[in-house]
Amino acid sequence: RSNAEKFEFQAEVSRLMDILINSLYSNKDIFLRELISNASDALDKIRFLSLTDKDVLGEGDDTKLEIQIKLDKENKILSIRDRGVGMTKEDLIKNLGTIAKSGTSAFVEKMQTGGDLNLIGQFGVGFYSVYLVADYVEVISKHNDDKQYVWESKADGAFAISEDTYNEPIGRGTEIRLHLREEAGEYLEESKLKELVKKYSEFINFPIYLWATKEVDVEVPAEEDDSSDDEEKPAESTEEEKEDEEADKDEDEEKPKTKTIKETTQEWERLNDVKAIWLRSPKEVTEEEYTKFYHSLAKDFGDEKPMAWSHFNAEGDVEFKAVLFVPPKAPADLYESYYNSNKSNLKLYVRRVFISDEFDELLPKYLMFLLGLVDSDTLPLNVSREMLQQHNSLKTIKKKLIRKALDMIRKLAEEDPDEIHGQDKKEVEESKENDEKRGQYAKFWNEFGKSVKLGIIEDAANRNRLAKLLRFETTTSEGKLTSLDQYISRMKSGQKDIFYITGSSKEQLEKSPFLERLKKKNLEVIFFTDPVDEYLMQYLMDYEDKKFQNVSKEGLKLGKDSKDKEVKESFKELTKWWKETLATENVDDVKISNRLADTPCVVVTSKYGWSANMERIMQSQTL
Ligand code: ADP
Ligand code: MG
Repeated sequence: RSNAEKFEFQAEVSRLMDILINSLYSNKDIFLRELISNASDALDKIRFLSLTDKDVLGEGDDTKLEIQIKLDKENKILSIRDRGVGMTKEDLIKNLGTIAKSGTSAFVEKMQTGGDLNLIGQFGVGFYSVYLVADYVEVISKHNDDKQYVWESKADGAFAISEDTYNEPIGRGTEIRLHLREEAGEYLEESKLKELVKKYSEFINFPIYLWATKEVDVEVPAEEDDSSDDEEKPAESTEEEKEDEEADKDEDEEKPKTKTIKETTQEWERLNDVKAIWLRSPKEVTEEEYTKFYHSLAKDFGDEKPMAWSHFNAEGDVEFKAVLFVPPKAPADLYESYYNSNKSNLKLYVRRVFISDEFDELLPKYLMFLLGLVDSDTLPLNVSREMLQQHNSLKTIKKKLIRKALDMIRKLAEEDPDEIHGQDKKEVEESKENDEKRGQYAKFWNEFGKSVKLGIIEDAANRNRLAKLLRFETTTSEGKLTSLDQYISRMKSGQKDIFYITGSSKEQLEKSPFLERLKKKNLEVIFFTDPVDEYLMQYLMDYEDKKFQNVSKEGLKLGKDSKDKEVKESFKELTKWWKETLATENVDDVKISNRLADTPCVVVTSKYGWSANMERIMQSQTL
């Protein structure tokens, strides 16, 4: 085209496209879901803009917020168009080629190490999946602020942009034309497209139409000799039909002779017609539907089910509906970015209108691993985002969401605790390696346990609720995870405190001399081996009126022993000598210990000082 301007793809984008074009990946279907998802995003954007400025919607067909799919079998073109926000010339250049998103190189890397192409949408590069099925793609787009432009590329490292002076005006929005490859012919079958929309795009909240072939009955004048070649008529008529025929004959006098023939025409057929899942009653929604809904939210279309979900309707001063999911796995960078970002995975809707998926005021940081959606009738629609962020109801929504989230996790813990199937030690060891054999809560703990601990540290109001969710191993738990409630239920008579020890691993701690007497006395001690545990225990002072005692610190009380005083007295000279010999810059004090059985002596830290483990952690952080 004479008016085309040429551009080169940014290098990473180019690499990505090469990978896609040469991919042997069998599930090429995913391109359709990515295009529909982009169309839906664009429609969300224009609808959001229209809240404060009605005029952006235009008039006539432009006001219809919908997605249309059309096939051109002859030319092997599949097109998907939306009446969304559209793209300006600048948008086309930036969004479709010259600016690489952070996900681009991450995705390229994943692909090179055998990652799943199915996750392309998660990396923010879903558009390029069109090159799984097409060798030439045109994107025609019209934004309110610009003229109609065409973006086109044969994925040969370059793309072209031209002002569109040859196609019909499409009105506001975007039309994507895929010139399908020879081997992608199946995407010209209506049945295939219907199947794909059902399968992947069922939760799109805009109508999706297909320009579909329809067989219709048409009345045409009957000719004299038509009976001989009328294939539509069954050889033998049923009784009813005979009666109908009789009736017809009666009318024959007045009416001209007609017959019905089948003709094919084309019309828009709606492919999705599901009420938004969160508006339905939780009783009506099946497990499979929740799973599929989760997949669409997570942009992860694997077979893994979410670990748990909670779907509820909050009533009262602040009304909202919400669905929360615990994903089957934590993303690799969940805790890496913990202190610099607060990327929420909740979508906010106000009265069915999508507002934002970057609304961080809905959940505290430690729950940012949850996925889901909130739709509120109480929040105002026609205000800016900034106003919305300060709205009073948000605090109430947040509070209720936390409660529901913690309830959901508690239920998971109750319904599917860490029951290791198998009793002898070998089986226990084996099942520790094999998550499948363990209860869901063990899996949850593995993936998200740290979040519960961060919650205890950060959320004083829910500290006790969160402490109930805490799991750990102990000197007597034999590899199973146990809870504080279980620990308390096993406490020995006369035991007042909850004992714990911190260190870098269970194996190291098991050998600790600090445990000798406690073991002899059959007192259970909690192992805390995660660096965050040291911080955790600075916030978790007590639980159900029981104090926590670090057994490696000074002042350990194992219950009263009548001989304590006598023993102390008889060794007074020795301890005095030790203290003088070691000098005060090395030790604060030398005492008779009640925690040792075989080891002659041990160095303990003072009650309010850092534990040796904490020293170790602090050292590793400053190095
Ligand atoms: P993502 O959707 O995650 O942002 P994509 O690769 O699917 O990543 O799309 C890239 C960008 O191209 C989108 O963010 C959007 O700005 C733009 N885009 C793609 N399709 C459309 C469309 N149908 N209408 C408007 N903009 C679109
Ligand atoms: Mg996308």
